[in-house]
Amino acid sequence: MIREAAYKWWQHGFNVVPVKFFEDKKQPLGDWARWHSKRQSEKDFNDLPWGSAEGFGIVTDYPNNEGLFLAVVDYDVKRVSEEAKAKGKELLGKFPITRMEKTATGGIHLVYLSKVKPKAVREFHDSHALELIAGGLLAVMAPSKGYTILNDNEPTILEDAQGIFYQVLGVNDDRAEVNEGVDSSLLEKWLSQIKAKLKVAGEGHQYIYAHCPFHPPDKHPSFAIHKTKYYAVDFHDNQVYNLRQLARALGVELDGVPEGLTCKLGAYRLNLVERDVFLLDFKDQPVFTCKLHALNSEKTKTRLAELTGVDKADVERKVAEFTFKAHVMQNSVRDEQPTILMTSWKPEKRMLMFSMRKLR
Ligand SMILES: [Zn+2]
Repeated sequence: MIREAAYKWWQHGFNVVPVKFFEDKKQPLGDWARWHSKRQSEKDFNDLPWGSAEGFGIVTDYPNNEGLFLAVVDYDVKRVSEEAKAKGKELLGKFPITRMEKTATGGIHLVYLSKVKPKAVREFHDSHALELIAGGLLAVMAPSKGYTILNDNEPTILEDAQGIFYQVLGVNDDRAEVNEGVDSSLLEKWLSQIKAKLKVAGEGHQYIYAHCPFHPPDKHPSFAIHKTKYYAVDFHDNQVYNLRQLARALGVELDGVPEGLTCKLGAYRLNLVERDVFLLDFKDQPVFTCKLHALNSEKTKTRLAELTGVDKADVERKVAEFTFKAHVMQNSVRDEQPTILMTSWKPEKRMLMFSMRKLR
């Protein structure tokens, strides 16, 4: 019966893993790490140790035939306070109606399918008695030992299970904060510039779906951009981008972005602020800094090659180009040209420096 039930999920395109229970711990049978990224063949399925299985789980970060991810809201009543239990129980009723299962420990599972790949959310277990099982965790399903189906519903398809989870709990969605401090009319303009560069596959209420520009070929569109919160999610590596990071990664020059002097070094870039050079990672976080006059030293170039993984010869060439441009730019400042240097979008760190004065 376990095997037959698991087979139905497998037929929908999900990868499944047999499990055994030791007291209240579930133990996957066999090595299942590869099923995060590779589709199980029918032979793979048949070769699983079903003989000793007491249940099965679904690998939540491998999408089904329609590109949908399994996401399970888990109401857990073990090792949580009475207060959290009461809060979780009340919130449970606010989730969209869907397939409901009882778990071995007396908790409740709400089973959804999500178009946008969700990540696991576990930090509200103690406060709300609720977790989101997703993003690579194994979701144990009925009729595993101790699990029963409580209604006749099929799993409801949600556009963004993670977003709904945050919304019902009334907590912050940290993905929505990545563009903090940028005016929304500017973001809207940037989105249309970026959209023109993507292979858009469709639109939902909240998201634009595209074939992933970073992992071609991408048969199922595995890249989504939120239309009003302006963050992007890559389903392959779970990377969340703000529009500025995305534009840079795609080589799109955004309107209204004064870049200052900048130069790409692999996934990093050099940025000049006054007379200091910063090496920023793709999230705009500085990982190295030196004075402009020290940039062209052997020691610095060796360090840059180590940090970025870029060839030493390439680093030499880029540094020469950067230093040259820096000198040209600093000379031109004498003609009262404003240079505008922007280093970060975080408001507290954002530095808009209108440097009208002479630099030397
Ligand atoms: Zn990708």
